[in-house]
Amino acid sequence: MSVSYTPMMEQYRDIKRRHPDSILFFRLGDFYEMFFDDAELASRELEITLTGRNAGAAERVPMCGVPYHAADNYIARLISKGYRVAICEQVEDPGASKGIVRREVIRVVTPGTVLTENMLDKGNNYLVLLREEDDAVYLAAADVSTAECVWAEFAGPHRVGNLCDQLFRLAPAEVVLGGKIGSLADIQAFTAARLPRCTYSSLVVDDYAAIAGLPGRHFDADELPAAQGATLALALLLHYLYQTVKSDLSHLNRLTKYDAREHLALDAATLRNLEITANMRDGSRKDTLLSVLDHTKTAMGGRLLKKWLEYPLVNPAAITARQDAVGELIAKPLVRQEFHQSLAEIYDFERILTRIEVGTANARDLIALRASLTVLPAVKAGLAPLEAKRLSAIDHALATHGDVRDLITAAIGDNPPLAVREGGMIRAGYDLELDELRALARDSRQFVQDLEAREREATGIKSLKVGYNKVFGYYIEITNANAANVPAAYTRKQTLANAERYITPELKEFEIKILGAQEKIVAIEYHIFCRIREYVKVRIGEIQQTARLVAELDALASLAEAAVRGGYTRPALNNAREIVIRDGRHPVVEKLLKRELFVPNDTDLNHRDCEIMIITGPNMAGKSTYMRQVALLVLLAQTGSFIPAREASICPVDRVFTRVGASDDLATGQSTFMVEMNEVAHILRHATANSLIVLDEIGRGTSTFDGMSIARAVIEYGKDKVRAKTLFATHYHELTELEATSRRIKNFSVAVKERGNDVVFLRRIVPGGADKSYGIHVAQLAGLPKKLVERAQEILAELEHGQRHIRAAAGEAAATAAAEPAAEQPTLFASSLAEELATIDVMTLTPLEALNILYKLQIQA
Ligand code: ADP
Repeated sequence: MSVSYTPMMEQYRDIKRRHPDSILFFRLGDFYEMFFDDAELASRELEITLTGRNAGAAERVPMCGVPYHAADNYIARLISKGYRVAICEQVEDPGASKGIVRREVIRVVTPGTVLTENMLDKGNNYLVLLREEDDAVYLAAADVSTAECVWAEFAGPHRVGNLCDQLFRLAPAEVVLGGKIGSLADIQAFTAARLPRCTYSSLVVDDYAAIAGLPGRHFDADELPAAQGATLALALLLHYLYQTVKSDLSHLNRLTKYDAREHLALDAATLRNLEITANMRDGSRKDTLLSVLDHTKTAMGGRLLKKWLEYPLVNPAAITARQDAVGELIAKPLVRQEFHQSLAEIYDFERILTRIEVGTANARDLIALRASLTVLPAVKAGLAPLEAKRLSAIDHALATHGDVRDLITAAIGDNPPLAVREGGMIRAGYDLELDELRALARDSRQFVQDLEAREREATGIKSLKVGYNKVFGYYIEITNANAANVPAAYTRKQTLANAERYITPELKEFEIKILGAQEKIVAIEYHIFCRIREYVKVRIGEIQQTARLVAELDALASLAEAAVRGGYTRPALNNAREIVIRDGRHPVVEKLLKRELFVPNDTDLNHRDCEIMIITGPNMAGKSTYMRQVALLVLLAQTGSFIPAREASICPVDRVFTRVGASDDLATGQSTFMVEMNEVAHILRHATANSLIVLDEIGRGTSTFDGMSIARAVIEYGKDKVRAKTLFATHYHELTELEATSRRIKNFSVAVKERGNDVVFLRRIVPGGADKSYGIHVAQLAGLPKKLVERAQEILAELEHGQRHIRAAAGEAAATAAAEPAAEQPTLFASSLAEELATIDVMTLTPLEALNILYKLQIQA
């Protein structure tokens, strides 16, 4: 028997059926209520009381609710736990409707589509859609909050790896699967380990033909991809956004293609190892390259600078253009300072435009937009005399939107409230009717007092009173004792026990005006506000362009500021495949240490005489710091930034690879050694002669001889087959022998000075291999007990002595082995036997002679 519910509960169930994957927030008066399983889940996750509601069913239905004005915080908490929330509103006036109020889902909030400020930080929030077609995986991504859309295609044998690298950079909050993806398990394993915040959902569409035209509605024809798979990925992405944001999203109007060939490729491991935008310790941006360079003043500039570091350039002309701009800003400190001041006044108006687009912007957003636009003329004035190509291009394209600014200034007061339906937003003097209404509301008391005084005077009735009640409205009350003096113009309205109440035409007119004036004020204010919001909405495309230009200027000014503060210089670019750095410094470590304490180092990498640097030296000497420094300086140079070095000349590289430290990938269930070998395999497969490879302590995760053999084979393979510029740090001193095998391999070590038992690390990279590892010295520095350190020294001495024996024994063994013929060759004995046998004439041999020969051979054997 089916349970019957009340009509409202039937309405709820009907809507919930259409949103099975979301928690349904069902608007009932001042609350959003949740029922059934949703109620149980939400009460647990939000720690709110679970109650019940009679809903016509035999049993009460589980229910919990949150007040609508506090809903954003509850929604934010559910989203951060990876849930989706469908918000269902009353879409008609409860007073006007017969039966139950019509309700509709007006928005589905998901991790990748949140728009409210309390759920977003300064950074991007991407939604990614994946679709596989014809052996390629297509990625379409959008940050709805900033209106950014990108797409990419991943084909070929490494498509999954390349896709994962791109996912790592985007760090999406949500991935939507538009159909079956062959290697989904690998992709999910990657995101589970590297992007724990990322959630997955899928989108099923019945009629692809119906949505295929969507990208064409948003983007210019020349931006649209040719491949059908890419078009469909974009179409699905837009379709998903319509279904969740429920707006026409016309602000999504620009599409860019992510093209791997235009950028210095940095895989996920390298981005992580070099701590470009997130550190390895806690994933925050503290002590990262970004933290040193980021002096941006706007959220938009901050997002762009982060992208520049994640996607460095390869095209020398593009790099030079940025360098020119940074150089000019460095050379003109006053201009730079002015820019910093102006930019500091600019709000995140990229996101304000989105709120205007979807209709959630309030009057404070308009004020923030106005404040941002107000400084643009000063910015333009600052740009006008500048000569660098990028800066004059920004000046040329930058519009100041004076009309928008003036309209907002004229219409919206300086401190409007958050709410848009409670009045108090529109400035006095903007609208005549509004001004009158406000004056009326303000003056009504005075009017009543004046009227009362005048009528007392005119009638001579001292006790005459003007009053108001809800049912009859305004009246003039006269006691029965004075009834004789009531003027003829008074109309009787109501009779009381000892008085009569009257109305006059003047009072009637006043009444009509004043009643509902407050309501009218609110309505007119809202109407004006919406008209202004509409006005801005039409201009979104143009103002978005301004936001992008502001972001670029901010990012360039930030690089200039970092260069001035850090004492950076402009690297020259060469196409001779050389990396030459004089007195280079690690931008982050030098900052942590104070610059005076950091020891600068040189680098000379080229394909003639130093393609592979084998760097040996004690632990803690500075090998990793040096290698990362080289990688970071190349990356920085290709970002268009100046670099911490006395001088440098750099040939842009196509990829930077790093294999650093023991990045234990327990989350993916692989051993450290397996991960390391995977990474090395990945590097050797992808690196080209134009790549830069940093390998730190390869082969550590296995036995010494295994490790050393692998390390040596890797170097030999790299030298012969890959020819990339390679920095190789190792504690296997034996590897220094490789220098003798090729003029392109050079040994380096970190200089140390021994003073008696003490060792001082000089942090200087010098030619030649190191011969000692000083591990015990480091142990001593780390504070291990003195007794323990002494015992370690004893053991080391024994071992070194022992190793000499082993070496000697190994030498003898090797000599013996060399004397021994290989297995396929006949042994000495066998060959002499063959010779002897060949000389014997068996036909003439006597039995005794045969026995004697046999005896002789036996003795020989
Ligand atoms: P290794 O890789 O040889 O074990 P690291 O590169 O980790 O050594 O360096 C150890 C420490 O030495 C770093 O944390 C840093 O504080 C310091 N250091 C490294 N290079 C320099 C340098 N060039 N100048 C000053 N201090 C340095």
